[in-house]
Order: sequence, then structure tokens, then C-alpha cells
Amino acid sequence: MTMHLLRPLAVFLAAYSLHLGYITVFYHRALAHRAVRLQPATLRFVLATGNWVTGLDPKAWACMHRMHHAFSDGPDDPHSPAQAGVLGVLVAQLRAYERTLYGLLGRHPDYLRHVQDLDFPVHWLNRHGLWWLPYALHTAAAVLLGYAGGWGFGLAYFAGLMSHPIEGWVINALGHAVGPRNFETPDDSRNPWLAALLIGGEGLQNNHHRFPASARFSYRWWEPDAGFMLCRALEKAGALTIERGRLLPRPGAPVIPTTQA
Ligand SMILES: [Zn+2]
Ligand SMILES: [Zn+2]
Repeated sequence: MTMHLLRPLAVFLAAYSLHLGYITVFYHRALAHRAVRLQPATLRFVLATGNWVTGLDPKAWACMHRMHHAFSDGPDDPHSPAQAGVLGVLVAQLRAYERTLYGLLGRHPDYLRHVQDLDFPVHWLNRHGLWWLPYALHTAAAVLLGYAGGWGFGLAYFAGLMSHPIEGWVINALGHAVGPRNFETPDDSRNPWLAALLIGGEGLQNNHHRFPASARFSYRWWEPDAGFMLCRALEKAGALTIERGRLLPRPGAPVIPTTQA
């Protein structure tokens, strides 16, 4: 009985970790903020595979996210609980992603100006109207897995890889509404501990908005940041370099003023 639950749980954790690794290390810390520098081969790999694995375009995601930092909790924030309400963020973030993708495809300056330094195009899947194809393939893979190994496996695979709307909602809504703050910032960002534990350190929104260019999101020792641990492992493997000069300071160390994104 226990194995019936443990095996699908292992599949869920593997799929969830794969998806979250792409988002938090590659899309967020590397592409959106340049807090880590990807080796050329890693960058090529991420640009070739990222959209297939996550269903999300790397350039559109980075653009939307930079707009979140530029307009944080103001009227132009793509997904703020202050604007859309805590529950409304679930829908607002999906609409914002779609708007950003089509804004970039239509070469609209309001979107292009946020990603001028990203010298790669929107993924060809999206340039050819095939945004749905990764979702269709993951659905087919889940059905096959369910058919071959039991529906628990199929569901676990699908839920793990396609968890982005839920984890995005937890971070974008609760990370700007619930939890303590370490720093005074012009936005409502907060550090919900449980969200940080479950979502690779991404819950530490207040630390991150204060030091957006830092690859490490944790400030106090008890703040969990699995994403930074993955950055360190990938650095040891030679896949990327952490920009150590941009890391946030330890408590008690002098704070160098920076709001650089
Ligand atoms: Zn935020
Ligand atoms: Zn960010």
C-alpha cells in the first residue's frame, strides 16, 4: 500500500523539481535577473528545451517578470494582489503571460523595451502558434504513463510538470500579501516561509525585491532557498557561474544600496 503512494510521489517530486529548476534557476535567476551567468552551452540548452519542459516561453516569462519588478504592486504590475486581489492573481498572471507573449510577437515597444538585452527570439513554437504543443505532449505522456503504470503515475507526472499556475499564484499572491518583511521596499513584498520551503526559495519575495540581482534569496539562516543550492550544484558541474559580487549581504553586514534588477 505504501509503495502505491511512494512511487507516484517520487514521480511527482522528480517532475516538480525538473520544472521548478528550469523556472527558478534558468528563467528567473539567470535570464530575468542575470544573477547567474549561464555557460553558452547551458544557455543554448535552456533556450532549446525550456519551452518544451515548462510550456512557457523563456523570453515572454522574463519580460513579464521584469515588468513585475518594474511596476511592483502598482497598476501596471502583471500580477499583484494589491490590484487583482489574492484569488484574482491566479487569472491575472495567465492573462498577463498571454498579453506579454503576443506583445513581444507583435513587437510592441511597451514589452520589447524590457528585454532589449536578451538577444534571442521568442521560441519558434510560439512564433508558429504552437504554444499548445508542449501541453498536448505532456498530456499524452501522462495518459501513456497512466495506462502503462497506473493512473497515479500519470497524474503525478502531469501535476508535477504543470504546477506553474499554482506555484506562481502562491508566490505572486501570498509573497506580496502574507509573511514577515526584512526590508523596507516600495512594494508589498513579503517572505512567507512555507512558500519558500515548498517553491525553491521563491517565496522570499521581500528579500528578492530588495536585492533582485542576487542569486541567493535567503537573508536569514532559517530562510530556505533550494534554488540557490541548485545554482551552487550547477556551478560545481560547470553549467553556470554565480555572480558573487551581486549576492545580498548577510545580516549585520553593511548594505550596499542597490535596486538593480
Ligand atoms: Zn514579487
Ligand atoms: Zn525576480
